Amino acid sequence: MLGIMQDRPLLISSLIDYAAQYHGEGAIVSRTVEGPIHRYTYTDAWKRSKKLAKALQKLDVKLGDRVATLAWNGFRHFELYYGVSGIGAVLHTINPRLFAEQIIYIVNHAEDDYIFTDLTFVPLLEQIQDKFSGVKGFVVMTDEEHMPDTTLENVLCYETLLAAEDDEFEWPAFDENTASSLCYTSGTTGNPKGVLYSHRSTVLHSFIVCMKDTLGLSSMETVLPVVPMFHANCWGIAYAAPMCGAKLVFPGAGMDGASVYELLDSENVTLTAGVPTVWLMLLNHMRENKLTLDVLERVICGGSAAPRAMIEEFEEAHGARMIHAWGMTEMSPIGTCGTLKTGMEKFTPKERYDIQEKQGRGTYGVEMKIIDDDGNEQPRDGVAFGNLLVRGPAICAGYYKGDGGQVLDDDGWFDTGDVANIDDQGYMQIVDRSKDVIKTGGEWISSIDLENTAVGHPEVVEACVIGVYHPKWDERPLLLVIKSAGSSLDAAGMLSYLEDKIVKWWMPDDVVFVDELPHTATGKLLKSQLREEYKDYKLPTA
Ligand code: ADP
Repeated sequence: MLGIMQDRPLLISSLIDYAAQYHGEGAIVSRTVEGPIHRYTYTDAWKRSKKLAKALQKLDVKLGDRVATLAWNGFRHFELYYGVSGIGAVLHTINPRLFAEQIIYIVNHAEDDYIFTDLTFVPLLEQIQDKFSGVKGFVVMTDEEHMPDTTLENVLCYETLLAAEDDEFEWPAFDENTASSLCYTSGTTGNPKGVLYSHRSTVLHSFIVCMKDTLGLSSMETVLPVVPMFHANCWGIAYAAPMCGAKLVFPGAGMDGASVYELLDSENVTLTAGVPTVWLMLLNHMRENKLTLDVLERVICGGSAAPRAMIEEFEEAHGARMIHAWGMTEMSPIGTCGTLKTGMEKFTPKERYDIQEKQGRGTYGVEMKIIDDDGNEQPRDGVAFGNLLVRGPAICAGYYKGDGGQVLDDDGWFDTGDVANIDDQGYMQIVDRSKDVIKTGGEWISSIDLENTAVGHPEVVEACVIGVYHPKWDERPLLLVIKSAGSSLDAAGMLSYLEDKIVKWWMPDDVVFVDELPHTATGKLLKSQLREEYKDYKLPTA
């Protein structure tokens, strides 16, 4: 017997409709590429996304067509999130930090019809436009006054496009399983692969993001996503904020400590989200300039693990709680969040930091399990670890155009490529990426744990641990360190700092001081490159 309830599709357009109707006065503040701070409301954004939808239809963009963006977090990018998906076209957010060859590859693979670009990326597109096979035109996200003198072919001005339209527009209705947006994984090995979200998965993920146990968004919150709108849907924030009318603050291209601080402070931001590198820059800026943040309540950290020292500094110097969120592009992206459970508010700070260091509890809508290499499920005791598998309605079932083949097992589980443990309270902790874990004499060492311990040293700016060939143990850890300017830290000093903090057999076999470390387009340490670079490195213990 079927239920007798209305079968209304879950569509992305309903999010911005809702925001305009119930939180029309809610603010959206953006640092623009042109310079000034731009302010408007959800009602303005709603009207302008409708104008954009009409303009797109005039450009003959239809259901299922792909429209790409190369843009920072800002109000026009936000309008594209709704204007493009709202008419059933697919918003393809491109990460401008990818190599030019990768951008060419994904534009052609996605068969993008139009590319909307911020002024910043016009020179990049000019250089590579002749490599695009099907792009019909470019739209520069600015007004006539700031339109650049450009060699881009078939170039249009965003504000001129919108000015030609009115906002009398009914969003079309279609199947909620229709594709809504497309995001490529960074592809550290091989070509990037596309994750194709649906309206249904996006709306369900927005509910998950809003939940008190996840990011806990509401109209009482002011949210600054430093995480880019081109990285895994801005962790769902650009969809979830209108679902509850949260005030949005978009940082534009300003992700350095001073720029992020300025907006956090001047806009009274209560919740912000980004990767550890961003938080490192912010903390350094505040420390050097003796600044504090009083209003900020929560700092969401994802993409990589935050070291404990960072969690402590946010709390002890600024009264802000750092909360891990873990996930991946393939999961829309949020899978877990480190919010506390009942009773934990009574924990001592040390006990609480122990929880905050973990990646968090599974959210509703995300099933998790850990298995060994033979597929046996491992106990949830916080010690046993294994490959982390996930299942849920906002998790990909395969990649765009079938790349990578079958990605789910017979029971529908997706292998995240992470190695993790899960404790009896349901908190998951990433041990490592399965390809980064150091396999030494049949045992595993977590490179992440070692890195996080090393950066606890006050003179260490960044640390990276990779496995290097060892004739007896197969692999042993090598620690690469960037030290702060003027520091006289040496290898012996570094190792003695680690001595009482890690088990003996985890001790790196050597320390190398470097000036910089390579990162992926999403800010993660590019360990595959370092493994290649150090593949013939001779450890003193070998
Ligand atoms: P990319 O495009 O770089 O793969 P993703 O955000 O999809 O970007 O990367 C997902 C991976 O990032 C996860 O599988 C995990 O290894 C790592 N990751 C994400 N969040 C966290 C976190 N909070 N702590 C530790 N690692 C994380």
